[in-house]
Amino acid sequence: MSELVWLSLAEAAGRLERREFSSVELTEAVLRHIEATEPKLHCFLTYTPELALADACAADERRSRGETGPLLGIPLAIKDVILVRGVRTTAGSKILENFIAPYDATVIRRLREAGAVFLGKLNCDEFAMGSSTENSAFGPTRNPWNLDRVPGGSSGGSAAAVAAGQCFASLGTDTGGSIRQPAACCGIVGVKPTYGRVSRYGLIAYASSFDQIGPMTRTVRDSALLLEAIAGHDAHDATSSAEPVRPYAWELDQPLAGLRLALPRECFGEGLQNEVRTAVERVVAWFQDQGASVHEISLPHSRYAIPTYYLVATAEASSNLARYDGVRYGLRVGEEHGLLTMYGRTRARGFGAEVKRRIMLGTYALSAGYYDAYYLKGLKLRTLVRRDFEAAFTDADIVVTPTAPTTAFRLGERTADPLQMYLSDIFTISANLAGLPALSLPCGFDDQGLPIGIQLIGRPFEEDRILAAAHAYEQAHDWARQHPNL
Ligand code: GLN
Repeated sequence: MSELVWLSLAEAAGRLERREFSSVELTEAVLRHIEATEPKLHCFLTYTPELALADACAADERRSRGETGPLLGIPLAIKDVILVRGVRTTAGSKILENFIAPYDATVIRRLREAGAVFLGKLNCDEFAMGSSTENSAFGPTRNPWNLDRVPGGSSGGSAAAVAAGQCFASLGTDTGGSIRQPAACCGIVGVKPTYGRVSRYGLIAYASSFDQIGPMTRTVRDSALLLEAIAGHDAHDATSSAEPVRPYAWELDQPLAGLRLALPRECFGEGLQNEVRTAVERVVAWFQDQGASVHEISLPHSRYAIPTYYLVATAEASSNLARYDGVRYGLRVGEEHGLLTMYGRTRARGFGAEVKRRIMLGTYALSAGYYDAYYLKGLKLRTLVRRDFEAAFTDADIVVTPTAPTTAFRLGERTADPLQMYLSDIFTISANLAGLPALSLPCGFDDQGLPIGIQLIGRPFEEDRILAAAHAYEQAHDWARQHPNL
């Protein structure tokens, strides 16, 4: 039964549909595989096999009553910043170590309605701040392709679990690259939807004007299916869009002829690993062979993307994280010394170093006297970054870049140097600043055997177009059929 874990989500759904096995059988195979591989990887912060089997039973029962659907009975796992009712939700932080989610996030409610099976909660950088999962208060996750390497981050547990066959798909979140960069590091597909495409209700907020939940899967079709299930307007999230959700999986077979690709020259300069450059160039040449046109563009303000992000996102984080005061959630330290001491000690003990760094940065950027020079300037730059893309999309359909400048780095390699860590997201952050849909797609391996990812960025709400292009490439190559040897 162990080969079952390597089926794509769509294949597993088809075989459930044909009653080749039950969801309970499928879930049992997955649970055995998790138990065999998890000691090496540490993808899960909370593992809930009993709940998963109960979900699987319920799904089998629904099927026996005649229900069908691509997610009915499919085992999934969820980044631990998304609330699953009754299950511990930590955001990778000591401050929420014992927090039990009192309600389901909207994405979880939708997946439950679709009949999904929940295996547990996946490791991530604390409050989704990081690019390696090393900022988790509960220890890092390891890259299934090479256990000495990071899986990327912040959704590192979500990426590693999918790559390792521990689930058919996972949910991640992406504020500056946290779905796409770990997807690239682990050789899977990761989609950051347009800002507003997926409800953020029940997502633990990091930077609210950037945060989006999205699918992480082994194939493009699986991401399309999962996105269809979670996207759409939600009365609980005022920033969620009323734009109709497209049937992404049905629309995967769009012709490539006439597709216009744009390559920003800023993304192919120094600092780019040679094998990454070569792999991305090969993908672009393949698209050209299929009848797509390719031209070079400039995104002149992209050089400000990282500083802009680290002003605006940290400003939002500093106010979002003010709620962790020892009164309402999780950890409480020093109660006996009065309220102010309790606030201070709880936050000093509960937050890790990177979270504290960002709260301080953000508080500074927002403070009277510095607001205009930092936060306001950040907002203006954000507009300029968005306009660069608007200009590019007047004669291009998709902007193509590497997902990350290098393949997965070694554990510990960048922990002492936050700037080095921040540079991992140099190609992904602009799409968050501009609110655009973007995905990472596997496109080869470096000479260490580490996966390489290419990023496709689309116009607002044109997830269908980037998914279709990615699907066409994936069908013509066999990266999606290669799995790490654990
Ligand atoms: N790595 C980036 C950061 O540290 C992005 C994180 C994210 O997208 N959540 O903020």
